[in-house]
Parts: sequence; structure tokens; C-alpha cells
Amino acid sequence: NMTLPPSPDVRGFLPDNEGHHLYQLALEGAALGPLLEIGSYCGRSTLWLGEAARQHRTVVFALDHHRGSEEHQPGEMFHDTSLINDAGLVDTLHEFRRNIRQAELEEHVIALVGSTQQVGQHWLGIDFGLVFIDGGHSLDAALTDWRYFGQRIKPGGFLVIHDVFPDPTKGGQAPYTVWRMAIASGLYEQHSQCESLRALRRIA
Ligand code: MG
Repeated sequence: NMTLPPSPDVRGFLPDNEGHHLYQLALEGAALGPLLEIGSYCGRSTLWLGEAARQHRTVVFALDHHRGSEEHQPGEMFHDTSLINDAGLVDTLHEFRRNIRQAELEEHVIALVGSTQQVGQHWLGIDFGLVFIDGGHSLDAALTDWRYFGQRIKPGGFLVIHDVFPDPTKGGQAPYTVWRMAIASGLYEQHSQCESLRALRRIA
């Protein structure tokens, strides 16, 4: 089954068609090196990346502080009361691990639990075959993702950004700002798009 959607009980915000597009990119990127996902939530998109990593015997580093983004906090639009822990905090790590284990992808998914800044400041690893930016959508969060990991991609690899909406009436502008910065850097060429998911290929 080449579409490989996650099982329906894996909650998340990546529609199947965008997930499938991400999977196709990841199959190509994973041939170049490990994958990096920024913003895993409960692991829905991680399953597509993880499956691509499995096929190339590599890994996806899944970076998330697992405390939820702004919109996941109590009282916000995408809050899920079942993801509140004993301390009253959003905690998606338990659910994430459960979903990765059920998909039998533990060998190919490595959780990096921390903020982009924490991990990025101390990252000593190699560059990636694909970086998927789908973390916090505040301008500050998105720019931090770009600053630390937006250029840690191997030549030929992909920078993929979710929730890119050029029309401000359709969605927040932070991911689109990152996309424009990537274009302006001269390091990438436009590759493909599926709904709000956009892929750039590293050329320099
Ligand atoms: Mg998203």
C-alpha cells in the first residue's frame, strides 16, 4: 500500500493527501540522509516520515517539546482535553510514543523532546535529507525553526513547510514568511505543492 495513511485514530492536522505528498518527498530525501520533523504533536505526520525512513534504513528525528503550540492550550481552538496530564499541562509525548509503537516504527523514529532553540543551539549532528517545518505558527516560533534548521539540508534535499497561506484571509502568515525567506536565500528552488504544504529543493 503506497499511500500508507496513519490509522484513523492518530489525531493530528495533516490531511491524507498532504501526508501522502510528504511521504513521496521523504522517500527521496531519506536516500540522502536522516529526516527532521519540527512539530510532531501526536505523531500523525511522523508516521509518513517514519515509513519513508524505514524503507531507506534511516531515521526521522521528531522534534517537539510536547507541551502543545499556542492553539493547543486550554481555551484555544484546537485544545484537546484528553491530552492534559496530571500537572494540568498539555502533554502529547505519551500519545506520540503510543502511536509510533503501534505503527512499529520505534526503530526509525527518534524523539527529540525540547524546543527548537534548545535542540538547535546544541545540535552537533549532520544535515538532513528533508526538514519538515510544522511547529508553532507564531512568527517568533516559525522564524526560530528557520534560523536553526532551515539551512541544515543536504544538496538535493527538501525543505517542506506546512500551512503556507499567501492569502492572509486563509491562514496565519508565519509559515508563508519562512517560505519567502527560504526563496530569498537563493539556496532553494520551488519543487512542488499540495494544498498548504510546500516543498523546496536545496540547490546550493
Ligand atoms: Mg500544520
